[in-house]
Amino acid sequence: MKNIRNFCIIAHIDHGKSTLADRLLDFTGSVTEREKKEQLLDTMDLERERGITIKSHAIQMEYTYKGEEYILNLIDTPGHVDFSYEVSRSIAACEGALLIVDAAQSIQAQTISNLYLALENDLKIIPVLNKIDLPSANPEEVTDDIVDLLGCDPSEVIPASAKTGIGIEEILAAVIERIPAPKGNPDESLQALVFDSVYNPFRGVETYFRVINGEIKKGQKIKFVATDSDYYADEVGTLKLTQHPKQSVKTGDVGYLITGIKDAREVKVGDTITDAASPTKNAIEGFEDVKPMVFAGIYPVDTDEFEELRASMEKLQLNDASLVFAPESSAALGFGFRCGFLGMLHMEIIQERLEREFNMTVITTVPNVSYNAYTRKNPTEALIVNNPTDLPDPSSIDRVEEPYIKATIITKADYVGNVMSLCIEKRGLITNQTYLTTERVELNFDMPLAEIVFDFYDRLKTVSKGYASFDYTPIGMRVSKLVRVDILLNAQPVDALSALIHADNAVNIGKRMCEKLKELIPRQQFDIPIQAAIGSKVISRETTKALRKDVTAKCYGGDISRKRKLLEKQKKGKKRMRQVGNVEVPQEAFMAVLKLN
Ligand code: GDP
Ligand code: MG
Repeated sequence: MKNIRNFCIIAHIDHGKSTLADRLLDFTGSVTEREKKEQLLDTMDLERERGITIKSHAIQMEYTYKGEEYILNLIDTPGHVDFSYEVSRSIAACEGALLIVDAAQSIQAQTISNLYLALENDLKIIPVLNKIDLPSANPEEVTDDIVDLLGCDPSEVIPASAKTGIGIEEILAAVIERIPAPKGNPDESLQALVFDSVYNPFRGVETYFRVINGEIKKGQKIKFVATDSDYYADEVGTLKLTQHPKQSVKTGDVGYLITGIKDAREVKVGDTITDAASPTKNAIEGFEDVKPMVFAGIYPVDTDEFEELRASMEKLQLNDASLVFAPESSAALGFGFRCGFLGMLHMEIIQERLEREFNMTVITTVPNVSYNAYTRKNPTEALIVNNPTDLPDPSSIDRVEEPYIKATIITKADYVGNVMSLCIEKRGLITNQTYLTTERVELNFDMPLAEIVFDFYDRLKTVSKGYASFDYTPIGMRVSKLVRVDILLNAQPVDALSALIHADNAVNIGKRMCEKLKELIPRQQFDIPIQAAIGSKVISRETTKALRKDVTAKCYGGDISRKRKLLEKQKKGKKRMRQVGNVEVPQEAFMAVLKLN
């Protein structure tokens, strides 16, 4: 136990976490030549393409330092706020963290939010100044920034380049010298923290854990505390690039467990594994059932594919327990599902997986957050509204609550004004403003989550010319003055386009939605009136004018292949169209409210 070190790497996106992890694996000889692919830890195709880590992973390295053998468990954490609960559990499984800061970019929003998580879990922080090879690096200044942030000595900051290999040996030495060995008691009843799980179609769910006390043995009957269910440990072992089965995994170590569980929902991140015969009295603190934050309807483009879509969603859920869904029907779109996601990235991932892995063509409706509505009749019991159309009649409502977040934004002093105006427009309340240096400012806002869902990132990038980083954490529900804005196409309400909007912004947003829809809905043989309404009151109106000419007319007598190409293009575009009443509505229109300029 005294020669084990458990650590993670925390960093703002693109500061070099994955590259550094690869370099550490390389240096400790933990990968063979054949296994040397770029960014080894990012395994899912989607992760590689997007250059982000979606699921966290763990990997064990062996390293000889001053004549002694050490086991170094590197626990990788996902780099996106949608998965912040998994990040917090991975951090809880460690005693130390490498805090990577890009020597050209300095401290950014995720650096700070991840650092807070690490400090809450009493982790030893090792600051690493990465990318010192870059010509644009500012090593002295950025070291000062790190020293200010951590209150550490400048000599503790390790200059490194994950690209060229500078500093890697120093980092490994610091991991051993500065991070404490795990504590734990080998004689106590088993207590292991689940920090991740991965679905394997052949072997069922693989559970990743860190043993806090006791040991976990092959063949042992174990219990998951939160789900209160018992299984046999068919296989336990440690994780290198591949799994190494063992007779047992002992106090302080990190490993995997296979029990034959076939449904990801039965293994919950944050849960405690214990011995079924003599269970521990104390579950590990910090377990939470993760709750979906963003909801949207998913409908098959072809109404005949509803059952196929259901089967696909069920399979997806087997390996992604954070996806929730329930059947719903929409007057406009027919039968589909209301799905709950951890956030917008998670939603995109699910959509993409449905298409890639299951060959489904789907329409996704405008995402919304989950609201609590209280009626006058029953003002103490919250009605959970995951779909704007479920909001009770306005006359019966006592109040509506919406989820709020605490936002951290780091930007250059020059853009503070712009960023503030944007946040205020987004109903943000400024709670704090700190000059990190004379150039860089940290701003904190309390804001409705719904405003982040709607085009916030893009706007923030624009108003700060790219010099702003952003992160957030949920802070609970607050009362808001919300109304439902409905959209009517050709005088027919389209339920899938309804949205809950703050009363003060409703008229403006209704107007912009009509304008956007006018752009997006293709012209047809007749005029299409587009209206926004609150209850029976129309607040805005636009018209998509009837088509005059056949679009291919201008090609007649011309090049026949050009005409065919045009028809082909139209056909492709049509794939993701839905007939709503007698109006053809493209997929983009269902997302229009997200892209209002
Ligand atoms: P992550 O998002 O924190 O995992 O960052 P990555 O490891 O994916 O790195 C982001 C980008 O920075 C990639 O293009 C890397 O090649 C590059 N990078 C990482 N470390 C260094 C470094 O030390 N020097 C230079 N020049 N580039 C680096
Ligand atoms: Mg990465």
